[in-house]
This record gives sequence, structure tokens and C-alpha cells, in this order.
Amino acid sequence: MLNVTRYEDQESEATQLSPQAASILEKSKELALKESAMIMMVDDEPITMEVVQAFLEDAGYRRFTLVEESRLAIEQIHNTRPDILLLDLVMPEVSGFDILREVRQSPQLRHLPVIILTSSSEPETKLKALDDGATDFLAKPVDPSELALRVRNTLAAKAYQDQLAYYDPVTNLPNRELFLDRLEFSLRQAERHKHNLALMHINLDRFKNVYDTFGPGVSDQVIRQAARRIRGCIREIDLLGQGVNGGRREHPLFRLGRNEFTIICGQMEKAENAATVACRILAVLDEPFDAEGTNVSLKAYIGIASYPIDSADSAALSRCAVNASAQALTEGGKRFGFYSDALNTRSLQRLQLESELRRAIDNDELILHYQPKVEVASNRITGVEALLRWQHPSGGMVPPGKFIGLAEETGLIVPIGDWVLKEACRQIAEWQRRGIQLHVAVNLSAVQFHKSDLVATVSRVIGESKIDPKFLTLELTESLFMEDADLAIETMGRLMLLGPKIAMDDFGTGYSSLSYLKRFPLNQLKIDRSFISDLEHSQQSRALVFAIVYLAQQFDLEVVAEGIEEPSQLEFLNQIGCDTYQGFLFSKPIPAAELEALLE
Ligand code: C2E
Ligand code: MG
Ligand code: MG
Repeated sequence: MLNVTRYEDQESEATQLSPQAASILEKSKELALKESAMIMMVDDEPITMEVVQAFLEDAGYRRFTLVEESRLAIEQIHNTRPDILLLDLVMPEVSGFDILREVRQSPQLRHLPVIILTSSSEPETKLKALDDGATDFLAKPVDPSELALRVRNTLAAKAYQDQLAYYDPVTNLPNRELFLDRLEFSLRQAERHKHNLALMHINLDRFKNVYDTFGPGVSDQVIRQAARRIRGCIREIDLLGQGVNGGRREHPLFRLGRNEFTIICGQMEKAENAATVACRILAVLDEPFDAEGTNVSLKAYIGIASYPIDSADSAALSRCAVNASAQALTEGGKRFGFYSDALNTRSLQRLQLESELRRAIDNDELILHYQPKVEVASNRITGVEALLRWQHPSGGMVPPGKFIGLAEETGLIVPIGDWVLKEACRQIAEWQRRGIQLHVAVNLSAVQFHKSDLVATVSRVIGESKIDPKFLTLELTESLFMEDADLAIETMGRLMLLGPKIAMDDFGTGYSSLSYLKRFPLNQLKIDRSFISDLEHSQQSRALVFAIVYLAQQFDLEVVAEGIEEPSQLEFLNQIGCDTYQGFLFSKPIPAAELEALLE
């Protein structure tokens, strides 16, 4: 891994700024550089390091690693990847000379600036250290202003060299050299954390025509526009993970050649999901570019290679991505493709499903089925859960397990969820008009919860359908609390104030700790089906269900057991005092009309 120091990521358009603005920009760059620079010190006297650190903190530096045991220094340098090393020469065990020589011999550390701190004023020692590759010297005891000056100048020189070596001057994007290093690193991370990685190679066809027609100046402008548009398509989460380059987050877009870009999508759940990003990029690159007043269009082609399917080797993976984009270009009609045939098929199916799902709402292909919630003691229906079904024009009835995940990834869950809520409220209103008093529960996805203005939507739909909101229940899952538990709890509270009840669905399968129960505004717990199906054979499941029912009672919550298929399961619930159940034993989810017949 290269240690690349860099001024903060600002567009390189400072040249057009007023002198005053340019000077402010310079200052802010220097500040950012100071705040991000990692300074490492190796010295056997901790007090010296503490004094130096205090001086540097006064000068605005924030990140330090102090190493007292010199034999650990090299390993620490590899792990921490400092931007500068302040090194003592005379130390027991491993001397400063040894460390300096090892740094200069290592391909990864070779360019690390090293300032030698030494009390020896002998010119011979200095000469020897210079021979071994020292960048600069500082005499002990250290003078604070001299220290600050040396460190600042050394870091600035390094940032400048890194900028020249690793960044494309036209777009300010990292170049091929840095790409190879980062790909290597990302692959190792993917291996360690067992996730997928996709490499997306973007080729701008026809760029050569622009260059030949308009010349280098204008074509640089066009390539900058293209880079900016591609950047806009990459969401925050796709940024190369934490830990790369010592905690700073880096953008995963690189310029590899005149008309070539590449993106490292470091943490993909499934490689075929890269198709969504590819489509987004193709769409923005299809818009015409401005070449000094003339509209020009470029045609982009994208090739995607994936780890682990295509290769675990960085060079081979890059070749796969390049080949896939060339393949897309030659095949004609197709604008992006995966290197692997299996992924091509899967991504096509996915894209087709996505476009069909988009149409499903407008074409009235979505419907709700209702599954009764039944009182254990009396076997009376007390409410229903609305469960979404998609009547596919050719594929029959599609269950939610087949499309909810896709809807969540593409954001389609927001309009779909709105439809479900509206339809369920319409049904409540209709039943109330006809004297049928039924509680209806609606499932909400965590994505809906975070992405849409859920509270406003629920409030509006309740108002428009003119229902008594106490007949509506919102079923949430524990995954909601993974992102920001406090925010989720606040939103639940605001939802509850609108009148509906709140249920925790699939309880026991998620991540929330029991202590959350105290903080959640909740009315109902739904015990997950997996515990119920195990009841007969697993003493542990029986104990768990018993404990959840007991807990719910203590917290004054209603408790619903899901997935009851056997009379013996119902019998067990009866014994332990569970209020309500739901399951095929009583009824599958059925259309509203059938449910009405069942009620009679
Ligand atoms: P869920 O909310 O836990 O719903 C219960 C699921 O268990 C339903 O599956 C239901 O048909 C099934 N089930 C009920 N009783 C039994 C039984 O006795 N045995 C077995 N084997 N299964 C039983 P379904 O309808 O396929 O829905 C699956 C999941 O899809 C739901 O789990 C829910 O998380 C999600 N879902 C359904 N509708 C919507 C919706 O409108 N919006 C959102 N965001 N998610 C929905
Ligand atoms: Mg549910
Ligand atoms: Mg459930």
C-alpha cells in the first residue's frame, strides 16, 4: 500500500480564482493537510516524543503514532502508513540507522520522508544518515518553530510529489498507478471480510473524434465533465472502505487512460447489483457534452468483472473488465456487460424484473392478501396482516420474497410501500363502512423507514382515508435499529402519536438487544416462525418462546406467534398464555372477499 499524501480533494480550478480566494483555498488546503497527516515518531525516550508531539499539536497537527520500542518500528510503519517519520538515531536493540535502511529498501516504504532527530552534532553521523536516505535533520533539544517548519515543508513536498505521481492533472482523479495499488488492497479486504467486489471499466468511445476535431484544450474540458458526472453516480457507501490510507476515505473512481475510467466497487452484496450503477452511469454519459458551445455526444461502454467469480488476481481482474467493455462495444446494441456469462444472465433477469416491477404499480398488478390474526383462547379473528402479492401478467402470483429485496435495493419499495399503505387504509375504511371492525397490519421495510418521509406519508394516508387510526398496525423489523437506533426510536414515537399501533415483526431473529425493549415505543411482539417450527423438537425453542411471551407480558405488550401449522403448537401457546397466533393452521393469506366469507 502506498502512502499517498494529498491536498483535500478539490477540483483543480484554483487557477481561475481571485488572488484572495486562491489564498483562502491554499490556507484551507494546508489546514486539511495538517489535520490528516499521520506523524510517526520512534524514540526510546518517551518524554522526548511527548514534547515533540505537544509542539506539533500547537502547530495544528492532530494524528500521531509514538513508538518506544525500536524493534517494533518497521511493523508499525507498515500497519499505520504514516506520512512522515521522525526518527531517533541512538536506540538500544535496533538503531535508527537500521530502521532507515530497512525503510529505504522496502518497495512500499521507500518514499516515506524521514527526519532524523539527533543530539549528535558530529558531521560524520549526519553524512552517514544522509547516505542511508534521511530526508532532513533536527537537532535535539528540538526548537519548536524549526520543528514546525521542517515538518510542514517536508509534508508539502511529499504532497506535491504524490500529486504529480499518482493523480491525473486534467481530472484530478487518481491514476493507473494508484489504481493498481488500491485494487490490490481492496481485493485483500474483500477476501478477509468475505464480500464481493466488482470492477467497472468505462470506455468513452468517440472521444478520439472530439480530440481530433476540437484539440486538447476542449477535449480536456469534456473529459472533466464526464469525470464529474460519473462521480455523481457513485454513492457515499461505495467509497473505498475505511482504513485505506490510514482512515481517510478515498473515491473509488480512477482515470486509467485518455478515454478510460475505472471504478472499484468494494463491498457488493451481489456482483450483479453493479448493473444498476452501470445503468446510472450510462444514462448520465448519454447527455450531450459542451465543447465550447458545441454539443458533442460520447458513447460509453462498460465492462464489469467481479471477485471472486472471475479472478482473485488484480491484474487478471482488470483484464476481465477491459475485455468485457470491449465485448460490449463489438456486440453492438449492448452497452454494458459482465465478464462472466452467468452474471450476464442474472443481471439481465434482474433488470427485466426491475422494469416489470416499475410498471406493476401503474398496471394495477399489485394486490393485498390478508392473513387472520386469531385469539388463542377463543379462536376468534381479531385482526389481519396485509401481505403483498404481485400478479405478474405472465408469471402467475409472485410472492414478496421474490421481489421485496430488489425493490429495496432500487428504491422502488418507497412507491410500492406507499401503495400498500393506501390500499390497506382504503380496505379498513370500506370494512368500517360495512360494520366490519378489523385491525389491519401493514409491513414496513427498513428502507422505507429511512428513505422516505414516512411520518408525513402515514399521517397523510390516514387523513385521506378517514379511518380511525387505531385499526392500523405498522409492523417493523429489528434491522431498523442497525443504522441509527436513536433516530429509529424517535420516528417510532412520532408514528405512534399519529394513532396506529406498532408491532415488532420476526422478533428474536435480528440484532436488537433485549434492553431495547425498554426504550422502544411498542404495542406488539411477533415471535418469528423459525422458533415455532422448532417447538416440537427443540427444548431451547420452547424455552425461548416461553421467555418471549413472559417478557412481553411484563412489558405490557401483545404477543403474536407466527407460522402456526400444527394443533400441538397451538396447544403449547395456550399452555404458556400466548394471546394471539397466525398461521396456515387457521388460514393462509387470502383475498379480501374470501376473508369476509371466513368472518361470517
Ligand atoms: P412477515 O411479515 O413475517 O409475514 C409472514 C409470512 O409468513 C408471510 O409470507 C406468510 O404467508 C407466511 N406464513 C404465515 N403463516 C405461515 C405458516 O403457517 N407457515 C408458513 N410456512 N408460512 C406462513 P409472505 O406473504 O410470503 O411474506 C413474506 C415476507 O415479505 C413478510 O414476512 C414480510 O416481511 C414481507 N412482506 C410482505 N408484504 C409486504 C409489504 O407489503 N411490504 C413490505 N415491506 N414487506 C412485505
Ligand atoms: Mg409481518
Ligand atoms: Mg413475521
